[in-house]
Amino acid sequence: MRVKLNGTRGSVGRAGPETVRYGGDTSSIEVTSGGGASLVLDAGSGVVHADAATVTSGRIDILLTHLHMDHIQGLGFFRPLFEPDVEVHMWGPVSTTKSLTARLGRYLSPPLFPVRLRDLPSVTVHDLAPGTVEIGSFTVTAAFIIHPGQTYGYRIAADGRTLAYLPDHEPALGLGRVPTDPRWTSGYALAEGVDVLIHDAQYTDDEYSGRIGWGHSTLTQALDFAELAEVGRLVTFHHEPNHSDEEIDQHHSEVGERRQTSVPFEAGLAEATLQV
Ligand SMILES: [Zn+2]
Ligand SMILES: [Zn+2]
Repeated sequence: MRVKLNGTRGSVGRAGPETVRYGGDTSSIEVTSGGGASLVLDAGSGVVHADAATVTSGRIDILLTHLHMDHIQGLGFFRPLFEPDVEVHMWGPVSTTKSLTARLGRYLSPPLFPVRLRDLPSVTVHDLAPGTVEIGSFTVTAAFIIHPGQTYGYRIAADGRTLAYLPDHEPALGLGRVPTDPRWTSGYALAEGVDVLIHDAQYTDDEYSGRIGWGHSTLTQALDFAELAEVGRLVTFHHEPNHSDEEIDQHHSEVGERRQTSVPFEAGLAEATLQV
């Protein structure tokens, strides 16, 4: 699989000279299998950089982890939604209160957006239940993880390789650290033994103490989680908008020097392509 990081920033876009390398666009990645099929995961502002953004025919599948604005704000600007010859399938977490169409429609309708979701030419919305589903050549597993509101993490398998995508995740909530027993660890089954884990590492340890319950992790917690799940490689994601490129580099190298870890890790670069 090939994974392109089209938007790596968390919470809000932060474009500027200090965020060029790790990017100013919010969460969106694109996964392409060896056979050429692709999936878009999340539609933050980074979705406009997706290779699929130029598609004018065929089918596109967009999987949403949750409906916080930094994960859906690019939807209205994703050109294939307006192409009558493109069949767009949107998948996202099921809710006990409202359908995904109704929840997405709050954003894709006036006064927040000029076009209504129901007026888009060929969009099908799927309320995705937790579990495993085959989408084209991908096997996709969705499970609820700790983050405010219904939020999925995804495990994607194709070509004999595996990827886990948990961009907004706070597995340390309640304990102050990531549990050591896999049975009680949010997201463990999704990440267990994957080749590549893309995971929230928004805060420094100091910042986390004032943001407990906001739904995010520190780099230290992301590494604890990656080690517990015995992943092949960790790519950190959902970078804090107030962290410059220099600060992200500095923090990753400080944490790397401080602890011996069996898991290679790196900060996700804007528009980087990873081979999984
Ligand atoms: Zn987010
Ligand atoms: Zn969120």
